Amino acid sequence: MRILHVASEAHPLIKTGGLADVSASLSRTQAEIGHDVRLLIPAYGAVTEASPQLRVAVETHLPGLPGKIRILEPGTQDVNYKIWLLDYGPAFDRAGNPYVDEHGAPWYDNAERFHLLCLAAVAIVRDKQLLGWTPDVVHCHDWQTGLIAPLLADEKRVTKIFTIHNLSYQGIFARSTFLSLRLPETLWGIDGIEFKGYMSFIKGGIVFSDWITTVSPTYARQIQTSDLGYGLEGLLQHRAARLVGVLNGIDYEEWDPRTDPHIEYHYDADDLDGKRLNKKSCIARWGLRGDENTPLFGFIGRLVEQKGVDLLIEALPTLLQAGYCFVILGTGDRGLEKRLREIAQSHRHRLCVHIGYDEKMSHEIEAAADVFLMPSRFEPCGLNQMYSQRYGTVPVVHHTGGLADTVVPVTPENLAANAATGITFSPPTAEALISAAQQAVGLYRDPRTWRSLVRGGMRTDFSWRHSARAYLSLYQKEGA
Ligand code: ADP
Repeated sequence: MRILHVASEAHPLIKTGGLADVSASLSRTQAEIGHDVRLLIPAYGAVTEASPQLRVAVETHLPGLPGKIRILEPGTQDVNYKIWLLDYGPAFDRAGNPYVDEHGAPWYDNAERFHLLCLAAVAIVRDKQLLGWTPDVVHCHDWQTGLIAPLLADEKRVTKIFTIHNLSYQGIFARSTFLSLRLPETLWGIDGIEFKGYMSFIKGGIVFSDWITTVSPTYARQIQTSDLGYGLEGLLQHRAARLVGVLNGIDYEEWDPRTDPHIEYHYDADDLDGKRLNKKSCIARWGLRGDENTPLFGFIGRLVEQKGVDLLIEALPTLLQAGYCFVILGTGDRGLEKRLREIAQSHRHRLCVHIGYDEKMSHEIEAAADVFLMPSRFEPCGLNQMYSQRYGTVPVVHHTGGLADTVVPVTPENLAANAATGITFSPPTAEALISAAQQAVGLYRDPRTWRSLVRGGMRTDFSWRHSARAYLSLYQKEGA
């Protein structure tokens, strides 16, 4: 099959979250299986800087645009699929984050920028001459690609897939933006991309795609409820027969404690000595006062309310009081960053807070910590709880979305069957988080049970194989 993925980020070229891991790993796995895969992303400043030998694959006019777009190809592609970078004047070639400016506000022209990404994808699909290649399947990821399916509504040759990685980001803009983008007026209305008087990119993907997927079975159910549907639950219920939850996998080459170049000591499920040594070395490097027997908790993620960072902040004084050590890596909401820094100042030897984005440190935390905390209020899939299990770090998670689908909770039955891999709690409150963390420490103090939890997680298969195949069978399904 010829598959075109379209996304707003891809690891390692540009990453703000899990979407980047998914677009790259899924492309790679589908190519490994033998398919012809291309991945289109914008040529952000950071991306072109990281790709020195760029070649212009095509330079062309698109209808309604004053200038020409260019599709660039990195000269050296060390991946088994082809990466295409969309370049258009200063739309993407600017410093900083793909979505927000230096003050954290969305770029003023996001609608125009991602409309452009959609137009380029539509051109690739419609015009075989453009790149000498056209896909059987166009797989669109998140709101930034939501206009592709509506603009291809009459194109029956191509199967249109839309994956929701996080329904809380929808790409909502004013009616005036709809008009200035010169979108077909037929798209305005309840059956189109109008949403409560505004235009909604994500609604385009949901209404017009052959299949809608989201990144875990539990989240697929949750977005059909008013709790997590953000007003789109009715539409999603209406499209339920076309909505499928496909669990994300993780990149087994990138995240392998036996070979990971970012960590000091390698290890596996049969010999965990390297994990012990990583902990010892990291504790010293992070300036923490603890030894091998001090429970070490890790957290990595965007510092936003969704991730339950405020719950963690509320729980920290009690857990620090109990003598545990913490390492927290993240960036996001300025207020949450400040509160974390303040707590760290008064607990310097128990709490290491690193504000920033640091790929290497994220691997080190997974390799060194005993317990990984994910108190997310909601979590479409989540990747770190899977990285944690692969690295023998026991996850403590709120029972929601993909966390519920990937962590086998400690219960007497699961423990007896050696099936448990982590601790789940509910509701998402600081009290419940504290008691789950304390439960983890109780289990940690019992080496036999702990070993069973660690090994259970390390032996679970989170590779992309299953999920990549699930998408492939969806592409081929009757009626797609
Ligand atoms: P989301 O996409 O909602 O941010 P996911 O759990 O799906 O959450 O994916 C987050 C990804 O980003 C993971 O690979 C995680 O390790 C990584 N990540 C998040 N914040 C940081 C950070 N500050 N430094 C390094 N990696 C980070």
